[in-house]
Amino acid sequence: MRLFARTMSSFTRTVSGPWNFVNGKRCNPLHPDGVMKVTEPATGKLLCEVPKSSKEDVSSAVLEAKKALGGWSQLSPRERGQMLIEAGRIVRNNVEDIARLEVRDTGKPIWEARVDILSCADALEYYGGLAPGIVGQHIQLGGGSFAMVQRQPIGVIGGIGAWNFPMQTCVWKVAPALACGNTFVYKPSQFTPVTAVTLAEVLSSAGVPEGVFNVVQGEGEAGAALCHEPDVSKLSFTGSVPTGIKVMASGAESLKTVTLELGGKSPLIIFPDADMKNAVKAALMANFLTQGEVCSNGTRVFVHKSIAKDFIDKVVTATKKMKIGDPNNDETTVGATIHADHAQKVLDYIKGAKEEGAHVLCGGERVILDGPLADGWYLSPAVLVNCTDDMKVVREEVFGSVMSVLEFESEEEVVQRANNTNFGLAGAVFTKDIQRGHRVANTIEAGTVWINNYNLYPTEVPFGGYKHSGIGRENGWAAIDAFTQTRMVYVEMGDVDCGPLYQD
Ligand code: NAD
Repeated sequence: MRLFARTMSSFTRTVSGPWNFVNGKRCNPLHPDGVMKVTEPATGKLLCEVPKSSKEDVSSAVLEAKKALGGWSQLSPRERGQMLIEAGRIVRNNVEDIARLEVRDTGKPIWEARVDILSCADALEYYGGLAPGIVGQHIQLGGGSFAMVQRQPIGVIGGIGAWNFPMQTCVWKVAPALACGNTFVYKPSQFTPVTAVTLAEVLSSAGVPEGVFNVVQGEGEAGAALCHEPDVSKLSFTGSVPTGIKVMASGAESLKTVTLELGGKSPLIIFPDADMKNAVKAALMANFLTQGEVCSNGTRVFVHKSIAKDFIDKVVTATKKMKIGDPNNDETTVGATIHADHAQKVLDYIKGAKEEGAHVLCGGERVILDGPLADGWYLSPAVLVNCTDDMKVVREEVFGSVMSVLEFESEEEVVQRANNTNFGLAGAVFTKDIQRGHRVANTIEAGTVWINNYNLYPTEVPFGGYKHSGIGRENGWAAIDAFTQTRMVYVEMGDVDCGPLYQD
């Protein structure tokens, strides 16, 4: 009996190595390429030292994934699905412990980390449940002949992640990929190495065989090595646009398919008939979750001129009430920026915005907390007004808690301005007019548009970007399409008819 051979849901609950996970166990790279010193955002102090995987280490992880592919893909989808559901159960039963690890790695508030980790359980259970439903097609042809379209795994998948939602990013790739019968090598961001290995231990506890899911740690070089691996058949990447372009270029060398989840500069449009309280709540959700380090954030808040003053007053009041503090406290709503360099980048955007004429109504400063948190980079969430579309802070992805408020007068104008960007990840419209809501949603050039809400990602719903925000989709059935290829088997029930080619 292969299923659930290991009944203990064992995973490491402290931040400790070894840091790679290859062939069913934690291990250190055999040929390390130096060490990464990882900072704990909350304290600004050293969190852990993680050996960087060399090209050889990446290759050996890919080799293990390749060896595991035959056995894993030959299991029935139902068996694979049961293991994913079991992994989801383990995650759900251990939300608090895993969320605490995520807080140490990212500096995000604990209440948000709990939501992230529960969403990992959702995705594991969803794809576990979906697995037996991954079926092909039967196509009836003339004379009793027919064709079968089989859904097959693609092979070994190489995944690379960003640092803002470390475990969720990993699970969104791994759960559907494994459900479809692929095996996986994942490289987390160098800034957040912890919970990908936790996931590996959880999957292993749930019965997933050795070699099916592997983790290699490292920086860009390890990611590039994974992209160049000849035995990796598909790349699934989450990160910035410039790195996404490199990933796609290196994948092209050996014709790998790619899924790219990239950055954004999304519009949130608020019409005069919107429910004001909900619009304010959504503006906070669209800008200040995870210290503003969210790809789909609605950082260009377009407010109709007639309600702008009221909206701005209310949004500033609500922003000032947010609690900057220890991410491990339940009351905290603003945690620590991922690292000092990134915090400086966010502060530079605010400085530049002021120089270009924006007014900062609140926030935008470093807040020094007491005691052990004194070296963390805590930034007060900022609301900017007097913004124009050509300002750098309005055009570029800041990836920090910086909301730019822009006023508009007509629907036609705001749609044109909302779409005047190379990004196309998300957007939202707030209105009580159902026709206007749909009309505007249908014209926003983005992979996700919310009507009267923001930044919700149920596992069942596909997610991904238009334009420079990405290629392909994660979540929903779309991820099953992304992690399978189809094989057509034609079955001839009569004689071969080759016309005049053959003479008796
Ligand atoms: P990044 O592009 O700097 O790094 C992402 C990952 O790529 C890291 O693991 C890094 O080590 C690796 N990498 C770097 N160079 C590489 C190379 N040459 N080849 C292969 N891998 C390489 O991005 P980041 O700063 O970690 O993340 C922030 C970005 O991610 C933002 O732009 C954000 O919008 C985006 N993001 C997008 C989504 C989405 O779903 N669309 C989700 C989260 C984050």
